[in-house]
This record gives sequence, structure tokens and C-alpha cells, in this order.
Amino acid sequence: MTPSLSQLPGLRQGTDLRAFTTWKVGGPAEWFAEPGSDAELAALAAWAWREGLALRCIGAGSNLLIADAGLAGLTLCNRRLQGASLDGGSGWVEAAAGEPIPTLARKAARAGLSGLEWAVGIPGTVGGAAVMNAGAQGGCTADWLHSVRLLDPARPDQVVELEARDLDLAYRHSRLQEEPWIVLSARFELQPGHDPELVRERTSSNLHSRTSTQPYQQPSCGSVFRNPEPHKAGRLIEELGLKGLRIGDAEVSRIHANFIVNAGEARAADIDALIADVQRRVLERHGIALHPEVKRLGFQR
Ligand SMILES: Cc1cc2nc3c(=O)[nH]c(=O)nc-3n(C[C@H](O)[C@H](O)[C@H](O)COP(=O)(O)OP(=O)(O)OC[C@H]3O[C@@H](n4cnc5c(N)ncnc54)[C@H](O)[C@@H]3O)c2cc1C
Repeated sequence: MTPSLSQLPGLRQGTDLRAFTTWKVGGPAEWFAEPGSDAELAALAAWAWREGLALRCIGAGSNLLIADAGLAGLTLCNRRLQGASLDGGSGWVEAAAGEPIPTLARKAARAGLSGLEWAVGIPGTVGGAAVMNAGAQGGCTADWLHSVRLLDPARPDQVVELEARDLDLAYRHSRLQEEPWIVLSARFELQPGHDPELVRERTSSNLHSRTSTQPYQQPSCGSVFRNPEPHKAGRLIEELGLKGLRIGDAEVSRIHANFIVNAGEARAADIDALIADVQRRVLERHGIALHPEVKRLGFQR
């Protein structure tokens, strides 16, 4: 049943998802909305659940490969749901799931709160960071996350709070990746009492070291593959001379071999084929299976 637009504000059909991913690829969403409040998000999620539609929430789309055919069901993007409150005295921080994690890292630095200095170069949201257990430069979300507030689409009138210890947080993994829940906000416990200037310096220097070694000027999704410990995926790919390898406009970055960049008008199928090609070559030559860190959505296989 088609919902009344007055009941579900902002709901639209056939939205091109390229603008909602950092790779700038992907087809249309059958249904799409960017809710302006948690209540709107709950109403939209409840509608999709009742209608038996596939439902997913995306943040900044910085870890997504969305198929060219697009996504069936309802795609919610929470990037309008921003904001954070920080207590410089206690270190408690509560942030809406759509808050960009670099913005939160800068706010924390200004408040003299240490902990999120690593997060400044990760172009995702707080919700995406919790789901992915995002991390960099020796730090990760799990180190500082206290709890998340969640919406279960099956019970949209109740908000559930789960502590970090119940989320199975591990390297680029959380239980949130396997559940239909939508993260509404996250609570962090940071270290108070630091000199804001020093925290700011560490934050800026982390950003500088990333932008000088990674291809930030081209559309990408960050590191494509998980590091197969004790190896580094980028090193394995570079050793095979695969920098610059191309399918269509999808290219293994010449700056960082674990990045695939959209060098023009790449399609999701090009990127997906390049991922498979790199996996095949690394397996053949090194005997190591690389597993993507990026989330593939809407693919048949
Ligand atoms: C240039 C660049 C550098 C990067 N560097 C790093 C890095 O150093 N370390 C790192 O870990 N990652 C890195 N990434 C990848 C990415 O930024 C992180 O994985 C980030 O945490 C994803 O957040 P997002 O909001 O973009 O999530 P999305 O990509 O939108 O979504 C990722 C997954 O989380 C789910 N999701 C998102 N928000 C919610 C929500 N509110 N509720 C429920 N599910 C949700 C989505 O459905 C999807 O399964 C990089 C990406 C780029 C483009």
C-alpha cells in the first residue's frame, strides 16, 4: 500500500543514491527519506516493517558499495540528525547518530576531551562508526563507546539502550551489522582535563598524516579490504604491482594500494569487478584471501 505523503514526510521514490555515497556510484532507492527527527525516522521504519519492505539506514555512505541496479525497499539516511552534547568536566559525550565523526572529534578537542583524535580523518557518522567499529592510527570506536540508543523497527515505539560490551565490538565488526536495528545516538566516555590546544594539535596532525598518504582528493570508500593479520592488505596489493590497475573508471589508487578510487564515471559493477580481480590475484600469488571491509548492498551474489 502506498503511504500518504502527509503521514510520512520526505518519503520519495527513485532517489539516485550516487549523491549519498563517497564513491559516487549506485543506482536508485525504491523508497528513500532523510528524516528530520527520531520520531519521523521511527514512523518511516515502522511503515517499512509493516509493509514487509527491506529497510536499511545509511549514514555518510563512506563505507558502502551500492549496486547500479539500486536498492529495493526503504533506504533511510540519517545525515540530517546531527548534534552532540559534551561535558568537559566528566568526559561524557552524547551524539546523534548522524553527527559527522570528524565534527565530534573537533568538538571534543575544543572541550579538552581526549580519545577521538584518531577519528578526524574518517568521513563517516557517529552511527556508522559504531556499526563498523571504525578506527585509525591505533584508536577505535570500541575504546571510547559507552552505549548506543537503538530503534528496533519491529517495536518502533520503544527505544532500547545497549552497552558497548553487548555489541560484540571487534576489528571493524559489531553485532549491529547483523541486526535490523537503527542507531539513534551514541554515548562516549572520553578523558577530561586535557589542554584543548594539545588535543587539537594531535587531532590536526593525525588528519595531516592521513591526507598526505591517502587519496582524499578522489571519490573512494577508504580501505577496501580488511587487513589479514599479520599482513597489511595495501602492502600485499602493492607488492603485486597492482597500483593503477583499472576496470572502467575504477582504479587501484596510485597513492594507497588498499584504496580503489572512482577516477571518473565508474559504475558499481566496475568497482565490484576490480575488487574481485584484486582478491583473485592476491590469493593466487600470496595464498591469502582478502575480505572486503566495505559493505556491498543490492548485489545478487
Ligand atoms: C577517505 C576515507 C577514509 C576512511 N578511513 C577510514 C579509517 O581510517 N578507518 C575506518 O574504520 N574507516 C574508514 N573509512 C570508512 C568509513 O568512513 C567508516 O567505515 C565509517 O565508520 C562509515 O560511516 P558512515 O556513516 O559513512 O556509514 P555508511 O557507510 O553509511 O554505512 C556503513 C554501515 O553502517 C550501517 N549504518 C550506518 N549508520 C547507521 C545507523 N545509524 N543505524 C544502523 N546502521 C547504520 C549501514 O547500513 C552500513 O551497513 C574511510 C572512508 C573514506 C571515504
